[in-house]
Amino acid sequence: MSALSCEGLTIGYGDGAPVIDGLDLGIAEGAVVALLGANGAGKTTLLRALAGLEPVRDGRILLGGRDLTDRSTEDRVRSGLALVPEGRSVVVELTVDENLRLGGLWRHKSKARKAAVAQMYELFPPLERRRGAAGHTLSGGERQMLALARALLARPEVLLLDEPSLGLAPKATAHLLGVLRETAARTGLTVLLAEQNVTGALSVAQRGVVLSLGSVVADRPAAALAADPALRHAYLGF
Ligand code: ATP
Repeated sequence: MSALSCEGLTIGYGDGAPVIDGLDLGIAEGAVVALLGANGAGKTTLLRALAGLEPVRDGRILLGGRDLTDRSTEDRVRSGLALVPEGRSVVVELTVDENLRLGGLWRHKSKARKAAVAQMYELFPPLERRRGAAGHTLSGGERQMLALARALLARPEVLLLDEPSLGLAPKATAHLLGVLRETAARTGLTVLLAEQNVTGALSVAQRGVVLSLGSVVADRPAAALAADPALRHAYLGF
């Protein structure tokens, strides 16, 4: 059974043409799938709809076989879905440590909460060095790490990540994607990773799905996609 799937999913804004048009997609438990496509292909729209933040016109969204199409974002989160939106959302007024403790709030025992936050510092040593720093003083890379760490603290089963490498230096991107790969391999986390950084995304993912004009135009093992210059040229702009 897929951890996350959609069937005939159609999404659009207002009366406009569909941005996502009858999309079928299944993501196996524990898989890391790269969601690729040029600017405006509909990656963000799809992730937001999966998280319940955009209404769908037609089709179904299933999480672990359960139909969540009409459920609230809160219900989806409770069912194990997490979205890290584009733009490194952290609470800028709070320190790194406070942001992380907020992410672990749902753990009722303070010992468990502390242990979970400590684990995030192990995964992201730069965050530990900046634990007392306010969110607004962090670099782009640090903010993205914090947004990812906060999402991981909720122990999601399925993580939706929207362009985590946007605006990051290559070293910060490599570190972030490396942590993601290790975490997924160790914990069995299922990941759908929307990225403009095709090379980075395909180095982490086992499979790549390319969106164009609202439909899937390629769905292949990551290595095969990375080695297909014609496809890259046609749909990914390089
Ligand atoms: P990018 O990499 O630039 O974020 P994307 O693949 O994530 O691109 P989307 O942001 O999902 O693509 O946009 C898909 C299409 O939907 C675009 O044509 C965009 O203009 C349109 N769109 C996105 N958000 C809205 C909105 N709130 N209202 C109307 N149209 C929108």
